[in-house]
Amino acid sequence: MNLDPATDRHPFLDGLPKRMLIGDRWVAAASGKTFETRNPATGEVLASVPEGDAEDVDRAVAAARAAFEGPWRRLKPDERQALMFRFADLVDAHWDELAWLDTLDMGAPIRHTRGSRRHLVGLMRWFAGQATAIYGQTADTSMNGSMFAATLKEPVGVVGSIIPWNGPLWAMVFKTAPVLATGCTLVLKPAEDAPLTPLRFAELALEAGIPPGVINIVTGFGHGAGAAIAAHPGIDKVSFTGSVATGQAIVRASAGNLKRLSLELGGKSPHILFDDADLERAAPAAAMGVFANAGQICTAGTRVFVQRGIYDRVVEAMAKVGDGLRVGAGTDPDSDIGPLVSPRQLDRVLGYVGSAHEDGARLVTGGTRFTDAARAAGNFVSPTVFADVSDPMRIAREEIFGPVASVMPFDTLDEVVQRANDSPFGLGAGVWTRDVGRAHAIARRLQSGSVWVNCYNQMDPSMPFGGVKMSGYGRESGPQQLDEYLHVKGLWIQH
Ligand code: NAD
Repeated sequence: MNLDPATDRHPFLDGLPKRMLIGDRWVAAASGKTFETRNPATGEVLASVPEGDAEDVDRAVAAARAAFEGPWRRLKPDERQALMFRFADLVDAHWDELAWLDTLDMGAPIRHTRGSRRHLVGLMRWFAGQATAIYGQTADTSMNGSMFAATLKEPVGVVGSIIPWNGPLWAMVFKTAPVLATGCTLVLKPAEDAPLTPLRFAELALEAGIPPGVINIVTGFGHGAGAAIAAHPGIDKVSFTGSVATGQAIVRASAGNLKRLSLELGGKSPHILFDDADLERAAPAAAMGVFANAGQICTAGTRVFVQRGIYDRVVEAMAKVGDGLRVGAGTDPDSDIGPLVSPRQLDRVLGYVGSAHEDGARLVTGGTRFTDAARAAGNFVSPTVFADVSDPMRIAREEIFGPVASVMPFDTLDEVVQRANDSPFGLGAGVWTRDVGRAHAIARRLQSGSVWVNCYNQMDPSMPFGGVKMSGYGRESGPQQLDEYLHVKGLWIQH
């Protein structure tokens, strides 16, 4: 990838204003409207993209339906699989370019966007492998031997996906792989703050030979294209990743045709450190569990519960990690943490810092915006540690989506389980202890879609990921995700 170091220009940007993909066409919005996407490190406009709305979603759904009932459906699983492997190879070959686009559009350090290659290309290949492994079962019914009873697994049809900005490349892989493996088709709306990677990713799908209409991208806003996808009667299922409030709006909007839903929503994940933990590993993991991607990760372990005997040491160690991180433009290979995605997000995070001060939490480090010449135009905030936070404070209850840790002491296992579960969310949870019995016991009691013991934020294509409670329902990754895109049909043949 030849990024011009003088201007940070990506070759893909030179083809812009980029249009959106409907069927085999790169088109403008029917309304002719466009919107700008900016580099969050500099505030510069990167590109203008179409502002799609309901009319464009209609066109995309028609293209997706035609592909579903036409060329895509006629392909045998092994033929679909071959295309998926080719697509994965192409994404692998263009990874650097895709990583740069993510970095420019949403700010994550290039080291990190590059670094997710093994996992994400691996996930594409894992799902390609599954394309020929989808089958039902035969049943021994209680009727006489003249009955043949079996289940068939069939694709749900046209899927609508609505994704957030905090990891566009991640979201594209997670939303396309199961669609392709099961033989569904897709209408996807990228986040308005980071629409560029999804467009390039879809371009590569066409190049790999995925038939036109299988993947359609409608760029636009939530109230326009997003709401139209949620309500569209021609969409059979919506897979949404984003905030709880939007998830609730989608549930309401989907009622018209009772479409299937999977919702990957927010979190306020507990990260629990017992006093027998290996602190050399646990304290940095607790810090990076909050600071990675500038805190813009749904599983950020933002409620750090520390057993009282090691509390002061952990607070100090976390602050040290935060102070040592290099906060800068994602395009700088030395940056550990990039900017927040938008000025709106910056205001939101600083608002939470203000609320913590008002509520009486103790600021240990951070809590400010960087205003030096190199960073003043971007949305840079320092890694922040608040100690002596109490459970009812807003920073301990609400999702901040910024690099702000709330550190709280606890005494007993029962107490920490009760406090960790006292949250509307249930996405991830971390536990550090050397006591195997305690690890098993607490893992079962935590109300959470994933529990990581002596590690944090681990993911693998073979493992499911998702939430309980208001963190949503449905699973991504793992065999469980395939079932989200399949109907099971009962077949009875009397002979
Ligand atoms: P958001 O809910 O504001 O937006 C997400 C997407 O929904 C965007 O594409 C937006 O345009 C669209 N949208 C907004 N209003 C809509 C509506 N009424 N109808 C349909 N679509 C609409 O979320 P965000 O700020 O982009 O992302 C941050 C949130 O995403 C956080 O809460 C985070 O925890 C969550 N998230 C969850 C996961 C997960 O896997 N659980 C992963 C990443 C992010």
